[in-house]
Amino acid sequence: MSSELCDPQVIRAAMAGAPFSKRLGQNFLTDAGVPKRMAGLFGKKHAVLEIGPGFGALTAALAETCGAVVAVEKDKRLLPLLRQNLSPFPNVTLIGGDALRLGLTALMPAGLIPAVCANLPYSLTTPLLVKLLESGSEGIGRALPDTPLPPLHDPVVVMVQREVARRLTAIAGTPEYGAITVFAALRARCSVLFDVPPESFMPRPAVTSTVIRFDRHAPDAARDSLVPAALRLSKAAFAQRRKTLANALSAGLALPRAAVTGRLRGAGFDPGARGETVPPEGYLEMAKAFTDIKMGA
Ligand code: SAM
Repeated sequence: MSSELCDPQVIRAAMAGAPFSKRLGQNFLTDAGVPKRMAGLFGKKHAVLEIGPGFGALTAALAETCGAVVAVEKDKRLLPLLRQNLSPFPNVTLIGGDALRLGLTALMPAGLIPAVCANLPYSLTTPLLVKLLESGSEGIGRALPDTPLPPLHDPVVVMVQREVARRLTAIAGTPEYGAITVFAALRARCSVLFDVPPESFMPRPAVTSTVIRFDRHAPDAARDSLVPAALRLSKAAFAQRRKTLANALSAGLALPRAAVTGRLRGAGFDPGARGETVPPEGYLEMAKAFTDIKMGA
Protein backbone atom coordinates (compact mmCIF):
# COMPACT_ATOMS: atom_id res chain seq x y z
CA MET A 1 0.00 0.00 0.00
CA SER A 2 2.77 2.48 0.93
CA SER A 3 4.50 1.51 -2.37
CA GLU A 4 1.44 2.52 -4.41
CA LEU A 5 1.49 5.96 -2.76
CA CYS A 6 5.05 6.45 -4.06
CA ASP A 7 4.10 5.78 -7.68
CA PRO A 8 4.80 8.98 -9.67
CA GLN A 9 1.91 8.26 -12.08
CA VAL A 10 -0.56 7.82 -9.22
CA ILE A 11 0.69 11.01 -7.52
CA ARG A 12 0.64 13.02 -10.75
CA ALA A 13 -2.90 11.92 -11.60
CA ALA A 14 -4.22 12.67 -8.10
CA MET A 15 -2.52 16.07 -7.94
CA ALA A 16 -3.72 17.11 -11.41
CA GLY A 17 -5.88 19.94 -10.15
CA ALA A 18 -3.61 20.98 -7.27
CA PRO A 19 -0.06 22.08 -8.14
CA PHE A 20 2.70 21.21 -5.66
CA SER A 21 3.30 24.10 -3.27
CA LYS A 22 6.93 25.24 -3.12
CA ARG A 23 6.15 27.42 -0.11
CA LEU A 24 4.97 24.36 1.84
CA GLY A 25 8.02 22.34 0.76
CA GLN A 26 5.97 19.76 -1.14
CA ASN A 27 8.44 17.20 -2.46
CA PHE A 28 6.73 13.83 -2.18
CA LEU A 29 8.65 10.57 -1.87
CA THR A 30 8.61 8.33 -4.94
CA ASP A 31 11.11 5.72 -3.69
CA ALA A 32 9.10 3.25 -1.62
CA GLY A 33 12.25 1.99 0.09
CA VAL A 34 12.70 5.27 1.98
CA PRO A 35 9.40 5.36 3.93
CA LYS A 36 9.85 1.64 4.71
CA ARG A 37 13.32 2.27 6.10
CA MET A 38 12.18 5.22 8.20
CA ALA A 39 9.09 3.40 9.49
CA GLY A 40 11.20 0.34 10.30
CA LEU A 41 12.75 2.28 13.20
CA PHE A 42 9.41 2.12 15.06
CA GLY A 43 7.16 -0.63 16.35
CA LYS A 44 3.67 -1.37 17.66
CA LYS A 45 4.51 0.22 21.02
CA HIS A 46 4.90 3.63 19.33
CA ALA A 47 2.38 6.36 18.56
CA VAL A 48 4.16 8.37 15.89
CA LEU A 49 3.54 12.01 15.11
CA GLU A 50 4.10 12.80 11.43
CA ILE A 51 4.35 16.40 10.32
CA GLY A 52 3.31 16.94 6.70
CA PRO A 53 1.96 13.60 5.40
CA GLY A 54 1.70 15.05 1.87
CA PHE A 55 0.35 12.21 -0.31
CA GLY A 56 0.58 9.73 2.55
CA ALA A 57 3.49 7.43 1.56
CA LEU A 58 5.35 7.72 4.86
CA THR A 59 2.06 7.76 6.80
CA ALA A 60 1.02 4.43 5.28
CA ALA A 61 4.42 2.85 5.96
CA LEU A 62 4.24 4.06 9.57
CA ALA A 63 0.65 2.77 9.92
CA GLU A 64 1.86 -0.66 8.83
CA THR A 65 4.56 -0.83 11.52
CA CYS A 66 3.35 1.39 14.41
CA GLY A 67 0.59 1.21 16.98
CA ALA A 68 -0.84 4.58 15.94
CA VAL A 69 0.00 7.51 13.67
CA VAL A 70 -1.10 11.12 14.12
CA ALA A 71 -0.49 13.04 10.89
CA VAL A 72 -0.73 16.86 10.79
CA GLU A 73 -1.05 18.41 7.32
CA LYS A 74 -1.29 22.17 6.72
CA ASP A 75 -2.40 22.05 3.07
CA LYS A 76 -6.19 21.70 3.17
CA ARG A 77 -6.27 20.67 -0.51
CA LEU A 78 -4.49 17.43 0.41
CA LEU A 79 -6.88 16.37 3.16
CA PRO A 80 -9.54 14.67 0.94
CA LEU A 81 -6.78 12.80 -0.95
CA LEU A 82 -5.13 11.76 2.31
CA ARG A 83 -8.45 10.58 3.76
CA GLN A 84 -8.89 8.36 0.73
CA ASN A 85 -5.28 7.13 0.60
CA LEU A 86 -5.19 6.31 4.30
CA SER A 87 -8.69 4.82 4.59
CA PRO A 88 -7.29 1.23 4.91
CA PHE A 89 -5.53 2.26 8.14
CA PRO A 90 -7.83 2.70 11.17
CA ASN A 91 -4.77 3.50 13.34
CA VAL A 92 -4.17 6.82 11.52
CA THR A 93 -5.61 10.09 12.81
CA LEU A 94 -5.42 12.87 10.26
CA ILE A 95 -5.40 16.46 11.47
CA GLY A 96 -5.62 19.52 9.24
CA GLY A 97 -3.54 22.33 10.74
CA ASP A 98 -0.20 24.06 11.14
CA ALA A 99 2.22 21.95 13.18
CA LEU A 100 3.99 25.10 14.33
CA ARG A 101 0.82 26.43 15.96
CA LEU A 102 -0.77 23.26 17.34
CA GLY A 103 -0.12 21.83 20.81
CA LEU A 104 1.33 18.55 19.53
CA THR A 105 1.56 16.60 22.78
CA ALA A 106 -2.18 16.86 23.37
CA LEU A 107 -2.81 15.17 20.01
CA MET A 108 -1.01 11.97 20.95
CA PRO A 109 -3.04 8.93 22.11
CA ALA A 110 -2.41 7.63 25.61
CA GLY A 111 -0.96 4.21 26.30
CA LEU A 112 1.72 4.20 23.57
CA ILE A 113 5.19 5.73 23.46
CA PRO A 114 5.05 9.04 21.61
CA ALA A 115 7.66 9.48 18.86
CA VAL A 116 8.13 11.60 15.74
CA CYS A 117 8.83 10.69 12.11
CA ALA A 118 8.67 13.20 9.25
CA ASN A 119 9.99 14.35 5.91
CA LEU A 120 10.10 17.99 6.98
CA PRO A 121 9.26 20.92 4.70
CA TYR A 122 12.67 22.50 4.10
CA SER A 123 11.77 26.11 4.88
CA LEU A 124 10.40 25.13 8.31
CA THR A 125 13.08 22.66 9.37
CA THR A 126 14.63 24.81 12.09
CA PRO A 127 11.45 26.08 13.81
CA LEU A 128 9.90 22.60 13.68
CA LEU A 129 13.02 20.95 15.10
CA VAL A 130 13.19 23.54 17.87
CA LYS A 131 9.56 22.82 18.71
CA LEU A 132 10.01 19.03 18.59
CA LEU A 133 13.20 18.90 20.61
CA GLU A 134 12.23 21.61 23.08
CA SER A 135 9.10 19.75 24.05
CA GLY A 136 11.60 17.60 25.99
CA SER A 137 10.64 15.84 29.13
CA GLU A 138 7.21 17.41 29.49
CA GLY A 139 6.24 17.33 25.83
CA ILE A 140 6.07 14.91 22.93
CA GLY A 141 9.19 13.19 24.14
CA ARG A 142 8.07 12.50 27.67
CA ALA A 143 8.22 8.95 28.97
CA LEU A 144 4.72 7.85 29.83
CA PRO A 145 4.13 8.12 33.58
CA ASP A 146 3.08 4.48 33.78
CA THR A 147 6.07 3.03 31.95
CA PRO A 148 9.67 2.73 33.05
CA LEU A 149 10.89 3.52 29.52
CA PRO A 150 13.25 6.49 29.38
CA PRO A 151 13.01 9.09 26.59
CA LEU A 152 15.68 7.17 24.67
CA HIS A 153 12.88 4.95 23.41
CA ASP A 154 11.09 7.76 21.59
CA PRO A 155 13.30 8.82 18.71
CA VAL A 156 12.64 11.83 16.52
CA VAL A 157 13.46 10.66 12.99
CA VAL A 158 13.37 13.40 10.36
CA MET A 159 14.46 14.01 6.80
CA VAL A 160 16.17 17.35 6.25
CA GLN A 161 18.48 18.89 3.65
CA ARG A 162 21.90 17.23 3.79
CA GLU A 163 23.53 20.58 4.46
CA VAL A 164 21.27 21.07 7.52
CA ALA A 165 22.09 17.54 8.72
CA ARG A 166 25.77 18.42 8.51
CA ARG A 167 25.23 21.55 10.58
CA LEU A 168 23.20 19.64 13.16
CA THR A 169 25.95 17.06 13.63
CA ALA A 170 29.01 19.28 13.13
CA ILE A 171 32.15 19.10 15.27
CA ALA A 172 33.36 22.23 17.11
CA GLY A 173 35.92 24.17 15.11
CA THR A 174 34.50 23.24 11.68
CA PRO A 175 32.73 25.76 9.41
CA GLU A 176 29.39 23.91 9.77
CA TYR A 177 29.46 24.18 13.58
CA GLY A 178 27.02 26.80 14.89
CA ALA A 179 24.27 27.69 17.36
CA ILE A 180 21.92 25.08 15.84
CA THR A 181 24.56 22.37 16.47
CA VAL A 182 24.79 23.41 20.11
CA PHE A 183 20.99 23.48 20.39
CA ALA A 184 20.63 19.97 18.95
CA ALA A 185 23.50 18.50 20.99
CA LEU A 186 22.22 19.92 24.28
CA ARG A 187 18.73 18.53 23.64
CA ALA A 188 19.56 15.16 22.10
CA ARG A 189 22.05 12.71 20.74
CA CYS A 190 21.93 13.26 17.00
CA SER A 191 22.96 10.67 14.41
CA VAL A 192 22.97 10.65 10.62
CA LEU A 193 21.17 7.59 9.20
CA PHE A 194 21.23 7.79 5.36
CA ASP A 195 21.11 10.12 2.36
CA VAL A 196 18.20 10.33 -0.10
CA PRO A 197 18.96 11.64 -3.62
CA PRO A 198 16.78 14.22 -5.44
CA GLU A 199 15.52 11.49 -7.85
CA SER A 200 13.59 9.96 -4.93
CA PHE A 201 11.05 12.82 -4.92
CA MET A 202 8.37 14.44 -7.00
CA PRO A 203 8.98 17.23 -7.84
CA ARG A 204 12.76 16.83 -7.56
CA PRO A 205 14.39 19.16 -5.04
CA ALA A 206 17.68 20.84 -5.97
CA VAL A 207 19.60 19.17 -3.15
CA THR A 208 20.24 15.81 -1.48
CA SER A 209 18.29 15.01 1.68
CA THR A 210 19.44 13.15 4.78
CA VAL A 211 17.51 11.18 7.37
CA ILE A 212 18.69 11.91 10.89
CA ARG A 213 17.71 10.59 14.27
CA PHE A 214 17.52 12.40 17.59
CA ASP A 215 17.40 10.57 20.91
CA ARG A 216 16.61 13.11 23.56
CA HIS A 217 18.73 13.19 26.66
CA ALA A 218 17.12 11.72 29.75
CA PRO A 219 15.83 14.47 32.05
CA ASP A 220 18.47 15.77 34.49
CA ALA A 221 17.28 18.70 36.61
CA ALA A 222 20.71 20.22 37.28
CA ARG A 223 21.85 19.99 33.65
CA ASP A 224 18.46 21.01 32.22
CA SER A 225 18.40 24.19 34.32
CA LEU A 226 21.64 25.33 32.61
CA VAL A 227 20.49 24.65 29.05
CA PRO A 228 18.57 27.93 28.40
CA ALA A 229 21.58 30.05 29.49
CA ALA A 230 23.98 27.83 27.49
CA LEU A 231 21.83 28.31 24.39
CA ARG A 232 21.68 32.07 24.94
CA LEU A 233 25.48 32.19 25.26
CA SER A 234 26.00 30.13 22.11
CA LYS A 235 23.56 32.32 20.15
CA ALA A 236 25.48 35.43 21.24
CA ALA A 237 28.82 33.79 20.41
CA PHE A 238 27.74 32.71 16.92
CA ALA A 239 25.88 35.95 16.12
CA GLN A 240 29.37 37.44 15.67
CA ARG A 241 31.36 34.33 14.98
CA ARG A 242 34.57 36.09 13.84
CA LYS A 243 34.80 37.99 17.14
CA THR A 244 36.40 36.76 20.35
CA LEU A 245 34.16 35.24 23.00
CA ALA A 246 34.66 38.32 25.21
CA ASN A 247 33.56 40.73 22.48
CA ALA A 248 30.72 38.63 21.10
CA LEU A 249 29.22 37.87 24.54
CA SER A 250 29.65 41.45 25.73
CA ALA A 251 27.75 42.70 22.65
CA GLY A 252 25.17 39.92 22.62
CA LEU A 253 24.36 40.03 26.34
CA ALA A 254 24.79 43.81 26.76
CA LEU A 255 27.33 43.28 29.56
CA PRO A 256 30.56 45.24 30.16
CA ARG A 257 33.50 43.51 28.46
CA ALA A 258 35.45 43.38 31.72
CA ALA A 259 32.61 41.54 33.48
CA VAL A 260 32.40 38.97 30.68
CA THR A 261 36.18 38.51 30.62
CA GLY A 262 36.33 37.93 34.38
CA ARG A 263 33.55 35.37 34.28
CA LEU A 264 35.05 33.51 31.33
CA ARG A 265 38.48 33.36 32.97
CA GLY A 266 36.95 32.24 36.26
CA ALA A 267 35.24 29.36 34.48
CA GLY A 268 38.45 28.34 32.67
CA PHE A 269 37.69 29.81 29.22
CA ASP A 270 40.04 31.95 27.16
CA PRO A 271 38.19 35.26 26.53
CA GLY A 272 40.24 35.65 23.33
CA ALA A 273 39.04 32.34 21.86
CA ARG A 274 36.22 32.18 19.33
CA GLY A 275 32.83 30.69 20.13
CA GLU A 276 33.22 28.11 17.36
CA THR A 277 36.03 26.39 19.30
CA VAL A 278 33.80 25.65 22.32
CA PRO A 279 32.02 22.27 22.14
CA PRO A 280 28.32 22.04 23.17
CA GLU A 281 29.09 20.75 26.67
CA GLY A 282 31.50 23.70 27.04
CA TYR A 283 28.57 26.10 26.76
CA LEU A 284 26.92 24.28 29.67
CA GLU A 285 30.08 24.81 31.72
CA MET A 286 30.20 28.45 30.65
CA ALA A 287 26.56 28.91 31.68
CA LYS A 288 27.52 28.16 35.30
CA ALA A 289 29.54 31.41 35.34
CA PHE A 290 26.51 33.42 34.25
CA THR A 291 23.81 31.98 36.53
CA ASP A 292 23.31 35.32 38.33
CA ILE A 293 22.54 37.11 35.05
CA LYS A 294 19.01 37.14 33.70
CA MET A 295 19.21 36.02 30.09
CA GLY A 296 16.20 35.99 27.78
CA ALA A 297 15.84 33.32 25.09
N1 SAM B 1 5.45 13.13 3.97
C1 SAM B 1 5.34 13.35 2.56
C2 SAM B 1 6.41 12.54 1.83
O1 SAM B 1 7.43 12.25 2.48
O2 SAM B 1 6.21 12.22 0.66
C3 SAM B 1 5.41 14.82 2.19
C4 SAM B 1 6.62 15.57 2.71
S1 SAM B 1 6.77 17.18 2.06
C5 SAM B 1 8.53 17.37 2.09
C6 SAM B 1 6.31 18.26 3.41
C7 SAM B 1 4.83 18.25 3.75
O3 SAM B 1 4.65 19.14 4.89
C8 SAM B 1 3.89 18.78 2.67
O4 SAM B 1 2.80 17.91 2.54
C9 SAM B 1 3.42 20.15 3.21
O5 SAM B 1 2.15 20.52 2.73
C10 SAM B 1 3.45 19.90 4.70
N2 SAM B 1 3.60 21.12 5.54
C11 SAM B 1 4.30 22.25 5.27
N3 SAM B 1 4.26 23.11 6.31
C12 SAM B 1 3.52 22.50 7.29
C13 SAM B 1 3.12 22.88 8.60
N4 SAM B 1 3.46 24.05 9.13
N5 SAM B 1 2.36 22.03 9.32
C14 SAM B 1 2.01 20.82 8.80
N6 SAM B 1 2.35 20.41 7.56
C15 SAM B 1 3.11 21.23 6.81
